Amino acid sequence: MARKPFVAGNWKMNCSAEQAKSLTAAVAEAANAHGGVDVLVAPPFPYLSAAKDAAGGRCQISAQNCYFEESGAFTGEVSVGMLKDVGCDAVILGHSERRHVLGETDEVVNKKTRAALDAGLPVILCVGELLEEREAGKTNNVLDTQMAEGLKDVASLEHVVIAYEPVWAIGTGKTASPEQAEEAHAHLRGWVASHYDDAAAESVRILYGGSVKPDNAAELIGQANVDGALVGGASLKADLFVPIIEAAASVAA
Ligand code: PEP
Repeated sequence: MARKPFVAGNWKMNCSAEQAKSLTAAVAEAANAHGGVDVLVAPPFPYLSAAKDAAGGRCQISAQNCYFEESGAFTGEVSVGMLKDVGCDAVILGHSERRHVLGETDEVVNKKTRAALDAGLPVILCVGELLEEREAGKTNNVLDTQMAEGLKDVASLEHVVIAYEPVWAIGTGKTASPEQAEEAHAHLRGWVASHYDDAAAESVRILYGGSVKPDNAAELIGQANVDGALVGGASLKADLFVPIIEAAASVAA
């Protein structure tokens, strides 16, 4: 079964309201021109509604995080229901900056994943190893743990996209080689086959993230088990992000 390529932009804590609208509009135009690629942008919380309006239904809008409780005394947090209320199509969870800068554990990632999926909000679940873990030969162990813990009690991956993001490649300009990416993606797909089934492994999309740019996107997305990209820095400029969408479209063609 052919998996539809998916290109997602994680804006992190960047942009103004005006930039959010104009960037989403430019990305939506490219999404419209390349219907063979699923396209998503993840603006900061305050700009989700404006981005949703600017997208005009032509590109998906995602949050970068959520909380697992439905409502209550959780100052500063945003619930899944609120994200759905403003038209979010997905939520990114377990991003390395949430894990390693903001101290999020696998247990919390799992609670958020289950809260989102239970409420019908698709999840982009990020996993990836630190440089010292790679150098110690522990990459597969780290990925296995993050998958097992993050997806604990998740019965179906139908509304889950996995993003493999080696931490050492995020925002550093150091990209995993296509071979390193393919090896990790094949491992993750094998994990899905053994913990779910072959059909789930065949259909789940696994995105690569870590310094994806227009000049390396086609080769990375061209790998057999790489189904698209989760893009940080290069998603903040339409003239960098749109060529990545085009690269995914050309690989799929
Ligand atoms: C990311 O934030 O998910 C990411 C991959 O960032 P960058 O593309 O800047 O490495």
